[in-house]
Amino acid sequence: FPGVAHFHTMRVAQPGGKFYTAEFLRQLCDLWDLRGSGITNMHGSTGDIIFLGTTTPQLEEIFYEMSHKFNQDLGGSGSNLRTPADCIGQARCEFACYDTQDMCYDLTQEYQDELHRPAFPYKFKFKFDGCPNCCVASIARADLSFIGTWRDDIKIDQEAVQAYIGGEIAPNGGAHSGRDWGPFDIQKEVIDNCPTECLWMEGNKLMIDSKECNRCMHCINATPRALRI
Ligand code: SF4
Ligand code: SF4
Repeated sequence: FPGVAHFHTMRVAQPGGKFYTAEFLRQLCDLWDLRGSGITNMHGSTGDIIFLGTTTPQLEEIFYEMSHKFNQDLGGSGSNLRTPADCIGQARCEFACYDTQDMCYDLTQEYQDELHRPAFPYKFKFKFDGCPNCCVASIARADLSFIGTWRDDIKIDQEAVQAYIGGEIAPNGGAHSGRDWGPFDIQKEVIDNCPTECLWMEGNKLMIDSKECNRCMHCINATPRALRI
């Protein structure tokens, strides 16, 4: 089967937060059309850009072009450090409890040699989530997950709580607006869904027993203008 005699897969290290220019993405695609199969897997279950299918003589050519023309590193594969990845973090997200991009970049640079010259006995991945929403699914997809959390109590803006109850602010950042679920019910949609039952209303005030909160993010996601971390 000469057509499938070689089918090398290459990983390309992604930038922190996956910020690209359209021009850079076009360059990658052109390179892979020329020297590989043209089939890519952009940030699939592993996280990297994955180039699927090329032949042995193309490997050094691709590495040269990536590193010399695109100023871009390859990622790791095999028994080594693989696929560092982080959520978009403080660049766009108010929930980020630390700078995920900075930490991912820093540790990638620190362990860069382990990406290419395997020192680990088995594949090893680290991923960085800025908060327990886990947008890069670090807990499921990494051997070492970093998940941001907060030191002090959740801050409650009681006026905003009333605005949610009164229907002036759409819950869940407006994500479910337009669906006919009736008016927002803070008891049913927030308080009753707290996994540790540490939320309650005292008169008009929303209360949290912070020591019982397991930081699941549910109440914060539902009413982000009322609850802040
Ligand atoms: S994991 Fe948290 S901080 Fe990171 S993008 Fe998702 S919601 Fe924002
Ligand atoms: S973050 Fe989760 S556990 Fe903590 S108060 Fe909110 S709903 Fe309850």
